[in-house]
Amino acid sequence: MPHPIFINNEWVDAVSKKTFPTINPQDETVITQVAEGDKADIDLAVAAAKKAFHRYSEWRKTDASQRGRLLLKLADLIERDVKYLAALETLDCGKPVKNAEGEIYFATSVIRYYAGKADKILGNTIPADGEVLSFTLKEPVGVCGQILPWNYPIPMISWKIAPALAAGCTVVVKPAEQTPLTALAVAALAQEAGFPPGVLNVVPGYGPTAGAALTHHPDVDKVAFTGSTEVGRMIMSAAAAVNVKRVTLELGGKSALVIFNDADVDKAAEIAHGTAFANGGQCCVAGTRTYVQSAIYDKFVQRATELAQQRSVGNPYDDVDQGPQIDQDMFNKVLGYISSGKSEGARCVAGGDRIGDKGYFIKPTVFADVKDDMKIAREEIFGPVQSILKFDTFEEVVDRANDSNYGLGAGVITNDITTALAFIKHVRAGSVWINVFDYVTCQTPFGGFKNSGIGRELGEEGILQYLENKTVTISLPKKPIS
Ligand code: NAD
Repeated sequence: MPHPIFINNEWVDAVSKKTFPTINPQDETVITQVAEGDKADIDLAVAAAKKAFHRYSEWRKTDASQRGRLLLKLADLIERDVKYLAALETLDCGKPVKNAEGEIYFATSVIRYYAGKADKILGNTIPADGEVLSFTLKEPVGVCGQILPWNYPIPMISWKIAPALAAGCTVVVKPAEQTPLTALAVAALAQEAGFPPGVLNVVPGYGPTAGAALTHHPDVDKVAFTGSTEVGRMIMSAAAAVNVKRVTLELGGKSALVIFNDADVDKAAEIAHGTAFANGGQCCVAGTRTYVQSAIYDKFVQRATELAQQRSVGNPYDDVDQGPQIDQDMFNKVLGYISSGKSEGARCVAGGDRIGDKGYFIKPTVFADVKDDMKIAREEIFGPVQSILKFDTFEEVVDRANDSNYGLGAGVITNDITTALAFIKHVRAGSVWINVFDYVTCQTPFGGFKNSGIGRELGEEGILQYLENKTVTISLPKKPIS
């Protein structure tokens, strides 16, 4: 039996009765069939979300503190089921189960953070000119369409739904077609937690059908999207086609990590390795452009090579560092980048090939002597490939780090505070790290400059993206009128 869609707290088949397979990336077998939502199902889900947002609905009458309690309950239930959810995530996504488990705890920290915010959404009183009293109300933006990627399915659903529900919005989530299973499992837990019908709906399906129906829907007030820059552009124009939807976009990246001569080479190589290969390189903020200053360059390349060669890749249910890539398309794409690195003249010092002949496993790959104009230095690979580039001076490396259409993350490794502070001042990226990389918490905003996106998720900024500002002005003569 195919896995059904979740609309209005009910499990239903797709209107079309169509299904699609979800594949285990470890052995390329079909895990299960899933009901394939498209426009008709999105219409039903949006109608349910709109009804749940009606001014007299149960949800709109729910106290803000109670919204927080429902989110806390959801976080507890996710933690109760952590083993099951982690195993399911690994099955659908291929990531090592220990990592899946850690990500689930991160997701619950995000849900609890926004649970705490639900009854602390404050407006301002404003000393406006004239005989008036002015204040602002922060109100939920309305029905939100939320489109997810496949690389961190459970954290991504938490980043989307937690601030939206804390703010009092209703949501229709479209998970990535590669990884629909854990989003549906989270929907079941939201129902168990007690969210009223229509508040959270999950419609699996493909981007050009279900996703596009959501972004074009006139009753959707806001779209939040995480995925590629290419699709992000389509979403932005769709969002302006029939109404003016609020849009937040978390898109691609090609983050630079800059390592100066005074760094401890072993520690620097570990940080660089950690970020380049995290989640099999399938991480939007991965620091895949590793710039290393000339005096330590050779030693660094040696250490980076050793670390990549020691990285364990295999069955994600075992204690390994890396599982398979997500699907055949990404597998082919990453191998294509590896051959382009070789043909453009970069020096492949580790990996450079697939592993075995079943499943989407790729060897951790390191290229040294990469030049800025090579494809592997410019384009997002989204796979286990580290590019090492040599530099001489501060000014040169800041220009080179900024010479990218992306601006999601950047990092610097140095013990010189002046160098570090100058770097954070001049680099153009949404997150900048010193002597650490990819350190993301529920309290700190995350998002990109340039083609890496619009708006921020997490932290205070994350909930503001789900709130409208209403300015109220009351005539208030300084003396009574009569
Ligand atoms: P993708 O953009 O193809 O797909 C992402 C989601 O968008 C999926 O749910 C897909 O079904 C949907 N989609 C596709 N076409 C659509 C359309 N026309 N209308 C509406 N929805 C549509 O990306 P992907 O291949 O799943 O993920 C890889 C990319 O995502 C990488 O470039 C990566 O950097 C980026 N990413 C960014 C972040 C971030 O936080 N900035 C996080 C994860 C992934």
